[in-house]
Amino acid sequence: MTKNTNAGFAGRGGHQEASGPGIESVELVVNRYGSVADQVHAALRQAIVEVRLAPGAPISENSICRQFSVSRTPVRAAIQRLSEEGLVDVYPQLGSFVAPIRLGEIQDSHFIRRSLEVALLREVAPKWTKEMSRTMRDVIAEQERVIAANDANGFFHADEAFHRLLGTFSGREGVWQAILAAKVTLSRFHRYWAKPERLPAVIEEHLAVVDALDQGDADAAERALVTHLDMVFVIYEQLPEEERKHLSI
Ligand SMILES: [Zn+2]
Repeated sequence: MTKNTNAGFAGRGGHQEASGPGIESVELVVNRYGSVADQVHAALRQAIVEVRLAPGAPISENSICRQFSVSRTPVRAAIQRLSEEGLVDVYPQLGSFVAPIRLGEIQDSHFIRRSLEVALLREVAPKWTKEMSRTMRDVIAEQERVIAANDANGFFHADEAFHRLLGTFSGREGVWQAILAAKVTLSRFHRYWAKPERLPAVIEEHLAVVDALDQGDADAAERALVTHLDMVFVIYEQLPEEERKHLSI
């Protein structure tokens, strides 16, 4: 399980500091036929979302140029885009750093995600089929397998696959893409603080949604989904004071 609680990035002097792995842990083989800036942006973004680059980690242009064997211009463009996405904070005199996980962003991210997912669920419920149920249960079985294999990364992917099915079943893949974009901060939070002990409960929460849909009870399915999504605040409340300082308000 990815957990970098020793990253030590409590705020100090306007930016945060991290002692986790740096840019040298991010791998990228640049395809010279595509946009270099796009590829650098995608590699860094994924590393930030998966907290392989922890909040507060320095994003040094020089290091990135060396690490990926690319020139400065596309690296600057990539950092600029990450900054616009709120994933990197740029301090002109100090350099650039992976942005802290901000509580306000978690709340907004969660609000958008919950609103859209509940709307998708409401559309899916009246046209629920045995096949949809089987497909969702297959994904839950996959989640059980990756938990047993202690594969944290696999679990996060399998969790997204479960929620994505609501978009697929309602024929609104584009809405799922909007949810994905909105839940970046939530994903960082979960990846940073998710405890392996919680994962079996996630399975139960997913099953409760499918069970209610199987019973034709859309209200119960919505309650089960909201309970599941709202767990982020329970996790937050349970964070020891020592860990909360790693969050920015
Ligand atoms: Zn889930």
